[in-house]
Amino acid sequence: MTTITLVQGDITRQSVDAIVNAANSSLLGGGGVDGAIHRRGGPAILAECRKLRASQYGKGLRTGQAVATTAGELDARWVIHTVGPRYSHEEDRSELLASCYRESLRIADELGARTVAFPAVSAGIYGWPMEDAARIAVETVRATETSVEEARFVLFDERAYEAFAARVG
Ligand code: ADP
Repeated sequence: MTTITLVQGDITRQSVDAIVNAANSSLLGGGGVDGAIHRRGGPAILAECRKLRASQYGKGLRTGQAVATTAGELDARWVIHTVGPRYSHEEDRSELLASCYRESLRIADELGARTVAFPAVSAGIYGWPMEDAARIAVETVRATETSVEEARFVLFDERAYEAFAARVG
């Protein structure tokens, strides 16, 4: 059974086996949590991302998928990059958001990671309403079979923390 824990703070300051990045499909960096991870983790992460683009992911990483790199100078062994969907008013993309958590846990299992920190994927620049993002995140992690012992949601502000706390109980 995975224990879900909640922290309000900066995901780049966490000591865990793997830190999940809300990346974009280019894998070449961006704003929000992605920018913060690359800034604090240093150039080794981007160097591996470039290699992945040049080898397996010529067209970029697809939405809902995940892939791991080194964590560079972060206090973690790996960064797991996953691409959340942009929120849409026309189309229900919940399954793609759920896939981000499932695939990140699958990669974590492959790596042997036991503690994994997640941000609120898609709930920033990609516009997903926080309460719904929290519901999908918590429900999916609870429903996924994994050897990860701690799934730590790291929420940047109080509003995000409260949304997740309401789900975790
Ligand atoms: P997306 O493009 O998937 O929406 P963002 O990085 O814009 O990704 O936002 C995802 C969530 O991560 C937002 O709730 C944002 O406030 C939060 N966030 C931004 N920086 C950090 C950080 N350093 N640590 C934890 N969460 C962060």
